[in-house]
Amino acid sequence: MSEDSVFKENLFKGKKVFITGGATGMGLGFAQAFLNHGAEVFIASRKEDKLKQAAEETEKKFGKKLIWKTMDVRDNETVEEAIEFLNSEWGELDILVNNAAGNFVAPIASMSENAWRTVVDIVLDGTFRVSKASYPLLRKAKNGASIVNIIANYAWNAAPFVGHSGAAKAGVLNLTRTLALEWANDNIRVNAMCPGVVLTENVKQNLMLDEKTAKTFEDYIPIGGVTNPEKMAQQVLYLCSPAADVITGDMLIADGGQWLVGNAFYQMGKKFLDE
Ligand code: NAP
Repeated sequence: MSEDSVFKENLFKGKKVFITGGATGMGLGFAQAFLNHGAEVFIASRKEDKLKQAAEETEKKFGKKLIWKTMDVRDNETVEEAIEFLNSEWGELDILVNNAAGNFVAPIASMSENAWRTVVDIVLDGTFRVSKASYPLLRKAKNGASIVNIIANYAWNAAPFVGHSGAAKAGVLNLTRTLALEWANDNIRVNAMCPGVVLTENVKQNLMLDEKTAKTFEDYIPIGGVTNPEKMAQQVLYLCSPAADVITGDMLIADGGQWLVGNAFYQMGKKFLDE
């Protein structure tokens, strides 16, 4: 188990966990953290090679098996297939983490409708589809279930140069609160977790265009600096733990106070305005 975890090794023993986009970056960090605390974990995303690689690496590193299946959150049929698979494997679901996302820097004035739709379709519509499809299984969880939606710290404010992602994450935050109320009677808690800056491959390729840009982000983080998937996994584990069973419809901002200081995306993206 991870040496850095503050949680008991068997905290999630016997729990069934579904993580969308769990083969890379933070999602894989969440998956491995749940596995290392006794859970059974299913990950699903589009690329089979990434899923296979994640499972192989996890087994090599921790001696634990990840269950996986290809799924596109934009395609309801594949979402339903994943849920049918979980129904036959587990018959219930304790934890769902809506983590799948796409993002890239683009000013609205030059953003194609296709680019806008793609990000909104993955992030907002995808969270709706997967949550709705998972609901019958979540209701069957014996001691209550938990959903964590991964958002971003531009969800409740402006999201300059990532406007598609900002609008979608804002929608997810609202949906989080709606579901918290609609599904409270089913003993399903629904919260959001807002990570800090994590230098995943996706971020390096699509957002951190160079060293200078990375420094801009770092300068806007009062405490903890650029963080990592393991630290962010601890936040998700907390939200799904019994310690948080009085928390629903809330969001946990784990960004080292970055959002209080300024809008890093504005600073970073200003070059679009200056050009
Ligand atoms: P990442 O490694 O790119 O993870 C995103 C995952 O989503 C990938 O595994 C990807 O796999 C999957 N995905 C994309 N489109 C999909 C689709 N249509 N259907 C199913 N899966 C799909 O990025 P990350 O940095 O770890 O981000 C994880 C989460 O944290 C995201 O929600 C992101 O918005 C949020 N976040 C990240 C940061 C950061 O600094 N990294 C900061 C704030 C919030 P496939 O391409 O194989 O489908």
